[in-house]
Amino acid sequence: MYHLVAGLYPICRSITGNGVRATLKRLTGIVPLAIHEVPSGTPVFDWVVPKEWNIRDAYVKDSLGTRVVDFHRSNLHVLNYSIPIRRRVSLPELREHLFSSPEHPDWIPYRTSYYKENWGFCVSQNQLSALKEEEYEVCIDSSLEEGHLSYGEFYLRGASEDEVIISCHTCHPSLCNDNLSGLALVAFLAKHLSTFSLRYSYRFLFIPGTIGAITWLALNEEKTSRIKHGLVVACVGDGGGFTYKKSRRGNADIDRAAAYVLRNFGRDYKIVDFSPYGYDERQFCSPGFDLPVGSLTRTPHGHFPEYHTSADNLSFVAPEHLSDSLLAYLSVLNVLENNRRYVNLNPKCEPQLGRRGLYEAIGGNADVKSSELAMLWVLNLSDGHHTLLDICERAALPFDVILSTARVLLSHQLLEICEGDCE
Ligand SMILES: [Zn+2]
Repeated sequence: MYHLVAGLYPICRSITGNGVRATLKRLTGIVPLAIHEVPSGTPVFDWVVPKEWNIRDAYVKDSLGTRVVDFHRSNLHVLNYSIPIRRRVSLPELREHLFSSPEHPDWIPYRTSYYKENWGFCVSQNQLSALKEEEYEVCIDSSLEEGHLSYGEFYLRGASEDEVIISCHTCHPSLCNDNLSGLALVAFLAKHLSTFSLRYSYRFLFIPGTIGAITWLALNEEKTSRIKHGLVVACVGDGGGFTYKKSRRGNADIDRAAAYVLRNFGRDYKIVDFSPYGYDERQFCSPGFDLPVGSLTRTPHGHFPEYHTSADNLSFVAPEHLSDSLLAYLSVLNVLENNRRYVNLNPKCEPQLGRRGLYEAIGGNADVKSSELAMLWVLNLSDGHHTLLDICERAALPFDVILSTARVLLSHQLLEICEGDCE
């Protein structure tokens, strides 16, 4: 995942354009995703797919012809979605188009102007302070024209048509934690899940933030009724603890599964309520959809100083944090995949476990007492209403213990999978 992040880092992405295409193309080397192209001008609910933006070069040259700001040194230097411009400007006029971050004088901030035509440069405070009173040549060799919005989609068919949706944003240029960590995790999660036979179908979306989610929802509204669980992936490469942001519903299975995993994962974590701000959970959880989609991140957006600056770079993310995050995602999906309801086929008094050799069947370790307790809980609560997650929470036993217990009881014809939970 880190290698992928490093490979994608130099590409200048935006909500549309060749940077996104190049990124998606590289992802096809990991998972065979489909690349969709939606024409500019396509109405999508209250929005319209914007013109396509592409950039080749951008600079500010001083009177000696030296590039004092150079897009080729960092693609963050150009205000993302800047209209093309080439002219001479005075320092005061130039300053009106410069963005900096005084709190961190070496860092270049990341700024965009998607829906208002503008041009500008983002510079470090040190660069800004070094500018002398003279005439500058500014050049932004970009194009903003009718074109397409590109997004990637990988659909993995499981036993059921019910879906889990996993989405990440693809629209930030050279920023690692916010953007690339999510892309890398989702690509490798998809590749890994492809090797299993799954209960749910999975839909992985690689979409530009906001407009991509709105576009996908507008063009695929009929598919949304199949979405039973979902996660928005972002900021999964830093060393902070985990944060799970609940779906708008607040008590969806995904909310309970993520909370359960984080409680037992052995890392710092926080669980926060839904708010209509953040990543694309905003769109998935808009009231007209109200999908059970939460967001699992490390340090959330805006809560690390490097956020939306050049310091969100390859040293800010690390392979071990990415792999830890992937493990957390897999643990959540493990709960969802296996969280079924069962029915006790011998509900009148306890079945005689010893006669069936069940005391030895589970665990095989000395902890016979807790195996017995797990069996008694599973048998007692398997009334067709309680899921395994309900049982594990009530019994305060690990999900995997409850799951393996249910499997053993199933194999001894003491349980059956509840109808509707058996795809
Ligand atoms: Zn961002």
